[in-house]
Amino acid sequence: MNDNIRGVPVNKFSRKYKLAREVSEAQTNSTKVSPYAKFRGSKVLYVTDFASLAWCEMQQHYSLMAGGKKETKAMRAGSKIHNELELQVHDIVTIPTKTREDLWGIKFYNVIVGLESLDTNYKTRELPIFGFVSDLFVFGIIDQVGMKNRGGEWTISDTKTRVRPFLPDQSKILPSVKYQLMLYKKLFDALIQGAIDEEIIYQRLRLNPDLEFSSELANIIKRFGNLDEGKEKEFQPNLRNLMRIVVNNFGKFRKSSNTLEVNYKYQKDGSDIGSLYFEYEEDQIMSYLTKSAKYWKGDRTPDGVPIEEAWKCQICEFADDCEWRLNKIKELSQKKRALAEIT
Ligand code: SF4
Repeated sequence: MNDNIRGVPVNKFSRKYKLAREVSEAQTNSTKVSPYAKFRGSKVLYVTDFASLAWCEMQQHYSLMAGGKKETKAMRAGSKIHNELELQVHDIVTIPTKTREDLWGIKFYNVIVGLESLDTNYKTRELPIFGFVSDLFVFGIIDQVGMKNRGGEWTISDTKTRVRPFLPDQSKILPSVKYQLMLYKKLFDALIQGAIDEEIIYQRLRLNPDLEFSSELANIIKRFGNLDEGKEKEFQPNLRNLMRIVVNNFGKFRKSSNTLEVNYKYQKDGSDIGSLYFEYEEDQIMSYLTKSAKYWKGDRTPDGVPIEEAWKCQICEFADDCEWRLNKIKELSQKKRALAEIT
């Protein structure tokens, strides 16, 4: 069972056709159907849905209209390395799901497993995280949370793969990576502070919190070690009770460090290259999230890149059809003509 409905692959012609048809809608009609409703069914947004806007909002919008990003060789290599790293920390088992409640039950169950690993090993990988950004429900998976020395701070980190076996310059950490990590920290700390309204999550995801999980999942959850001894028989294996454990378990931890880590692995063999660090900036992430949420809610249209980042257009698959780029070219040539007339 998939948690979101993926569009069928579109060929080059239909991709272009869709763009041409919907570009004007993106720019003139965005308030009628928000991207949140149109592309995410008004249910869940992912952390990457926010972070990717930092590269080029217009490109992200076109990509959504065309049915999602195309998987590249680098993305495949990155996923392989991520899977190998995850298996170093825990095993992965497949549990059959019958309902959407089962599906979300597994996601929240994985939170409990991750927190248990944090508690015992001071480290976990692929920790699911969730919360709200401006009323929008957001879900994500943190690559790694860990503590270097007992009694220290929890460090949130993201793993990136590189084609070259050396660290990039500090200034080369992409804004999208910074926003991604800052949003992880924001969601992690909010859960630790208990700042979450579970009822709104059920409403937003259109889930029945009292529906009992299917037998396989129910049995696993009933046996889960965090349940009070002797209470297994009374425990109703459903989202409401599972979420209670999630919230309680988060309450046992302290807020994460303000220093965020980007760890780099060599794409060729997965070996560790090293890490770069940067500081969390509350004002910066808040203003970014406020602006991004306005796009997702359809309160404003997406922007293309500023002129100083026009190099991004040269490697953009939507460059030929991009209204933003075409308008900028038109504006520039008008300016040039006006200048020529004056001089
Ligand atoms: Fe963004 Fe440029 Fe691509 Fe348009 S052509 S979507 S402005 S990167």
